[in-house]
Amino acid sequence: MEIRVRYAPSPTGLQHIGGIRTALFNYLFARSRGGKMILRLEDTDRARYDERFVANLYDAFSWLGIHWDEGPDRGGPFGPYVQSERFDIYKKYALELVNQNRAYYCFCSSERLEALRSGREKSRSSESGYDRLCRGIRAEEAAGRAAKEPCTIRLKIPLGESTRFHDSLLGDVEWKNDDVNPDPVLIKSDGFPTYHLANVVDDHLMEISHVLRAQEWLSSTPLHAILYASFGWEAPLFCHLPMVMGQDGKKLSKRHGAAGIDEFRRRGYLSEALINYVALLGASYKEGKDVYTIEELAEYFSLEKLNKAPAVFDYKKLQWYNEQYLRMKNDAELAGLCLEAAGTELFGEGGPSADEKAAFTAAMPLIRERISFPAEAAEKLRYLFADPPLPEAAEFIPKKSDLKTAAELLRTGREITPALAEAENDEKAETLIKEEAEKRGVKPGDLMMPLRVALTGARVSPPLFGSIRILGAEKAGSRIDRALELLERS
Ligand code: GLU
Repeated sequence: MEIRVRYAPSPTGLQHIGGIRTALFNYLFARSRGGKMILRLEDTDRARYDERFVANLYDAFSWLGIHWDEGPDRGGPFGPYVQSERFDIYKKYALELVNQNRAYYCFCSSERLEALRSGREKSRSSESGYDRLCRGIRAEEAAGRAAKEPCTIRLKIPLGESTRFHDSLLGDVEWKNDDVNPDPVLIKSDGFPTYHLANVVDDHLMEISHVLRAQEWLSSTPLHAILYASFGWEAPLFCHLPMVMGQDGKKLSKRHGAAGIDEFRRRGYLSEALINYVALLGASYKEGKDVYTIEELAEYFSLEKLNKAPAVFDYKKLQWYNEQYLRMKNDAELAGLCLEAAGTELFGEGGPSADEKAAFTAAMPLIRERISFPAEAAEKLRYLFADPPLPEAAEFIPKKSDLKTAAELLRTGREITPALAEAENDEKAETLIKEEAEKRGVKPGDLMMPLRVALTGARVSPPLFGSIRILGAEKAGSRIDRALELLERS
């Protein structure tokens, strides 16, 4: 069997984690089985449709690097892939069901349906939904009226029977037809299809082999199974993916933090981190392995590796992934990301000069392990590009020491700064400091402390030796002189 799966979003909202997870699992499943992934826009709900959501969809997936094989933007042999361009098809299939007496016209007014609904709510009747009034109208009479009166088409649910379908995660699911939504509408009075009809017709015509979708659609599946049977079609295999929850056990939403993909992106999450983390939401691959490329994920993915239990979204774990992926970037890549995120904070709208960009890139090893998001780099490296404010004299004093000693230590530091700036690497610089400290009978740490404060403006900073190399002997020297003046004055 050819594996064909689809992601079928309704463009009625922004892409969020749940949707991305569904799309990603479909994508990985297709890749893992040499199959095809299809994008289908289910835009039948015209009232909630917004072009902005379509743009957001394309934007989110191109950023994530998830590509489909067939879809509205790529075309393919089963198009069109936008439901609003397929209305004639749904109509034709609905009429076919009417002709076979498996569906019927309903002439009930919206007032009647409303009264039915509110009456049932009031009496708390266990029966919900439509009372099947028009099911009893004779076919010829109904056809005559349908030509003149506004009407809908409803599915004639076969009563007194059960419907079964198989879910690869939940096993066999059986449902009494009498408990399914009574005779749901397939074609609305304005001629538009409902989600159920369009979804089933398209999955069949597009030869979808597996439907992987969120568990919130599980309650629609018995009805879909009945529809497949009514058409005499074989249903695809289903797999309803466990829900994604916040840490409080409630469905993931804005309350928990970023939920929209745009927002994750704005906050500085990398697409690789998001893909990697979301791929593990509700799935486990290899014991003891956390970091996977998308190619590895595609290789390891299988429906057997999915968990039944709801997945809990952990922002801390996602941040951990972000840190891991930032660490895998080379200097130029990381500098590019950091400048894009917050370059203007350091270099203004005009961006860095070529020298500044080179220095910024050379500074990446100083912060690579110290940031969780690219935007944090600017603040951490500000001291390299503008003289930091001079701290108070007390800040220069090592523990259990005094101002005079601090000044002496800094003078020593001043002397070896040109050599430190020239040192090929950190080990060489460290040897220099150690030798000098030993000569003067002081601790290497005490020698470094005033130097660090003079150069970076703080007692805690990115690595000192790298900072001196990037600042260069001249700039470092003048910062030390400025600090020495302060200490001598104090
Ligand atoms: N259009 C539905 C949605 O918005 C698709 C559900 C399904 O995958 O069948 O999620």
